Amino acid sequence: MDRSKSIAIIGGGISGLSTAFYLLKNAVKHGKPIRKVFILETQSRFGGWLQTSSNPNDENDFFELGPRTISTNSYGGVNAIALVHDIGLAERVRYISKGAANFNKRFVAIDGKLFQLPSKFYDLFPYRQPFKPFISYLVKDFLMPPMKIETNEDVSVDRFFRYRFGNDVADYLVNPLCIGITGGDSKALSMKSMFPNVLRKEQTHGSVVKGMFTKEDIHRDLIDHPLVRKSIDQKWAVFSLEHGIETLTKQLCSYLEKNYPNIIELLPNSELVELSFDTDKTIDLTYLSNANDEKSTHLQVDHVFSSIPAFKLANVLKEKYDLLRTSLLSIDTVHMGVVSLEYDQNLLSDKFNGFGFLVPSSEKSSILGVTFDSCIFPNGKPGTKLTVMLGGYRFLELFGQPDSVSKSELLKESIKAIRNYLHIQRPPTQNMVTIHQNCIPQYTLGHEQRIATIETEIAHLPLSIVGSSYHGFSVPECILNARIQVNKWLNKLD
Ligand SMILES: Cc1cc2nc3c(=O)[nH]c(=O)nc-3n(C[C@H](O)[C@H](O)[C@H](O)COP(=O)(O)OP(=O)(O)OC[C@H]3O[C@@H](n4cnc5c(N)ncnc54)[C@H](O)[C@@H]3O)c2cc1C
Repeated sequence: MDRSKSIAIIGGGISGLSTAFYLLKNAVKHGKPIRKVFILETQSRFGGWLQTSSNPNDENDFFELGPRTISTNSYGGVNAIALVHDIGLAERVRYISKGAANFNKRFVAIDGKLFQLPSKFYDLFPYRQPFKPFISYLVKDFLMPPMKIETNEDVSVDRFFRYRFGNDVADYLVNPLCIGITGGDSKALSMKSMFPNVLRKEQTHGSVVKGMFTKEDIHRDLIDHPLVRKSIDQKWAVFSLEHGIETLTKQLCSYLEKNYPNIIELLPNSELVELSFDTDKTIDLTYLSNANDEKSTHLQVDHVFSSIPAFKLANVLKEKYDLLRTSLLSIDTVHMGVVSLEYDQNLLSDKFNGFGFLVPSSEKSSILGVTFDSCIFPNGKPGTKLTVMLGGYRFLELFGQPDSVSKSELLKESIKAIRNYLHIQRPPTQNMVTIHQNCIPQYTLGHEQRIATIETEIAHLPLSIVGSSYHGFSVPECILNARIQVNKWLNKLD
């Protein structure tokens, strides 16, 4: 009897491609035979939000339209370093080390001006409006008892930090931080799901500051991995790759096709439209493929890994999975405008030679923040490259439906913000405006409970879920979650 398995992965972003990588690598290691792995991807390209738009005449000159840095400060980050090495990208890493100014110099916009956040010990003491000396916030946290939270209770990010550090930190630091990482509202986001480690440390050690002094082993089983060792020696804080971050997903595709030519089948232009589990064992996938004149094509497999956003998975399931569909649909997302600007001169003074700035809600601005790309990972001709992010949780209120937003309005708003905050008066020499619909999931209050319901509902189905909707949306978290879900499934096989 043939006991080998055929698998379909839905979605070819970083989560889907990492799932294929771990499936094939770990199945061989554990002696579990895999017959076929199909990756269905709607678009003509793989990579999802990892999207680098290169100058067609020079691949060293590009704009990042999605993520631009991968953080190394967690086990997920360390795991991402190991994956980068294992697929042959070790020599193509670009990194910023922990002490570097372009990593540490960050700003928040307050009353139209940019305020530099403390990055060194002696920055904790001066009195600079609108903040008190930062040391006073740390003392407050040190003296406060842990927040009282019942086992099933969730608390918003805003409420937690307001309680521990006071209003200035909640309004001018935590609010823009949430905007910067999710485009979301700190009053709506769940502390348990957004910052589980901070909450755990506070509940265990009685204060966030005390918790920060407890050493956490983020390297674990990967401590002796050659590129991880190098990253420790060179003190990597964040990294990217030569020719931009999309090099990662491009290389994952080449690696899979080169190493598993008879098993892996990449199916671009293939949109899953229905997923049905009618019989106990086989799964029927219906997808539209332009290789087949957009006619529906069927595929039968033994197991499915879905890496598409939760709401898209809900849309391909049948109505009988009502509770599962409702729970998937309750994971909200935000839209974002991404405006890339290039100037042919170096217009950022030394003062601003840093990572970028974030804009708190109190500024009543349409922009969420700006990254100083030509300072972070310079590329292309000498000059200045900036990326402005707009919208987020206020996208609909500010700009209306993403399908009908005028790109020139987003460009105008971005240039105005650059003029106001960075005093750059001249127009950019190049620009690119993209509108990313439903691009970042929102882990709002109750997220953990929603995930528990989803996991109970799929426990009896031949379906695993990976991707940014569930257990972390940063690139390293997506990669790590793919590894965890693959191992969970492999361990269940007899
Ligand atoms: C603007 C922006 C900036 C970011 N910056 C950072 C950063 O600096 N650092 C960081 O770590 N993270 C960052 N992130 C977050 C991170 O990039 C994403 O969360 C992550 O890339 C999500 O990957 P994924 O594979 O889970 O999902 P996706 O990238 O969404 O991939 C899912 C894929 O499924 C396909 N698909 C959808 N429906 C179907 C269907 N029915 N059938 C077949 N295929 C389908 C899609 O086309 C897509 O390719 C950023 C995100 C955005 C949007």
